[in-house]
Amino acid sequence: MTNEQTVYNNITTFLHCKMCLQEKPPGISPRDYSHLEVGFTVPGFQVWCRRHEANVIDVDFEGAGPFPGDFGL
Ligand SMILES: [Zn+2]
Repeated sequence: MTNEQTVYNNITTFLHCKMCLQEKPPGISPRDYSHLEVGFTVPGFQVWCRRHEANVIDVDFEGAGPFPGDFGL
């Protein structure tokens, strides 16, 4: 018996780079066009657009966490 449980994609609002959305060719979804990196920072985590080398969001957990998940380091 394990303590693992399946976690599904529960995202209700996706994050996108504004510049990518503006220049995205028609017929390509934001999901397919995005070129994002997600990673931990000292206070939290950050989403970074690799295409534009720009910050999408920088979240500060103020010491909360860690939060379990299936991620690779
Ligand atoms: Zn972008």
